[in-house]
Amino acid sequence: MTGDKTEQDRWQAQLVDHSQFPRRHGRIEGASIIAAGDNPICGDRVRLYLQMDEEDRISDARFEGTGCAISQASASILTAQLPGRSRRQALEMFAAAHVVITGGEWPEGFEPGELAALGLVRKFPMRVKCASLAWHALRHALEEGEGTVTTE
Ligand code: ZN
Repeated sequence: MTGDKTEQDRWQAQLVDHSQFPRRHGRIEGASIIAAGDNPICGDRVRLYLQMDEEDRISDARFEGTGCAISQASASILTAQLPGRSRRQALEMFAAAHVVITGGEWPEGFEPGELAALGLVRKFPMRVKCASLAWHALRHALEEGEGTVTTE
């Protein structure tokens, strides 16, 4: 398990902060892509709005959602990191975060920054679907376009 006690306390505080004060919460009128995620086990829902610019970069990202604190904190952490990233960079971020949420380590050379808080989810296997919900919506948005993904 990566992360000493102090580090885990910091991750915990970040998750709580994101769930209480979600960043980039809301919708984008006329968004380029809207994708949603549904986690019926826990009752979490996330709707992700992406605005792409002419160079296929994400210029704006917002989300709306309901559900448990981890699902909403994860969506907040995700959308805060998206603006300015290319489609490829965002998909690389998805791949790295997905490994960590499901119990692995950050890939060599990947700088997680604020995403590091997702490492805490490894302690709560029951919460993997909650934490990965917004990320699956992102992958769907970037690879397949509009639609809804479900964790079941
Ligand atoms: Zn949940």
